[in-house]
Amino acid sequence: MAFPEPLERLIRALEKFPGVGARSAERMALHVLRSPREEVAELAMALRDARIETMRCEQCGNVALQTRCPICSDAERDAGLVCVVEGPREVEKMESAGVYAGTYHVLLEGFAPREGAQPEGAAIRRLRERVEQGEVREVVLATAPDREGEGAAMLVVEALRDLPVQITRLARGLPVGTRLEYLHGEILAEAFRGRRACAEDGGPLEASGGPEG
Ligand SMILES: [Zn+2]
Repeated sequence: MAFPEPLERLIRALEKFPGVGARSAERMALHVLRSPREEVAELAMALRDARIETMRCEQCGNVALQTRCPICSDAERDAGLVCVVEGPREVEKMESAGVYAGTYHVLLEGFAPREGAQPEGAAIRRLRERVEQGEVREVVLATAPDREGEGAAMLVVEALRDLPVQITRLARGLPVGTRLEYLHGEILAEAFRGRRACAEDGGPLEASGGPEG
């Protein structure tokens, strides 16, 4: 152990953040030692509050301050339209694009998915329950056009296959591998307006006509 124990402990904790290696963790930890005590206290409080005061919306799984998030609680939103995304960042992106008035369903258990992350089985079961309740008429798949996103989309299609609900997918033509969270708002709006129905057999993610068709 090269550093005093409290510092070493901080470094180990920081290393657990995504994208933070040993060297970065050391730099961040030493930065903390140089920072005013009030700032550090504020950081500690922010970490604690973000974790303790937030929860997952019981309906959509998005991060929320109450058991129902503001979107699910909003009577003005179209509860018949459910956009399936991987995490809260995608919800945020869709919301800032301002082109969507439906609701969401967040798949991943972790809010910062890592390589190889799998959608939570419970999230897909909850989605199925939402559809079974009868109010949902269209599920829009907006998972990333990469291996994990496609895999998640297929699991959703499979889980809803026997239910009377339209399943659509954001229009292709998005740059390959682009995650929703990185898309420009206008491109996203275009992808949403151009969404296509998913085929029912074999190629669940291939286009097979518009949402009305
Ligand atoms: Zn919600």
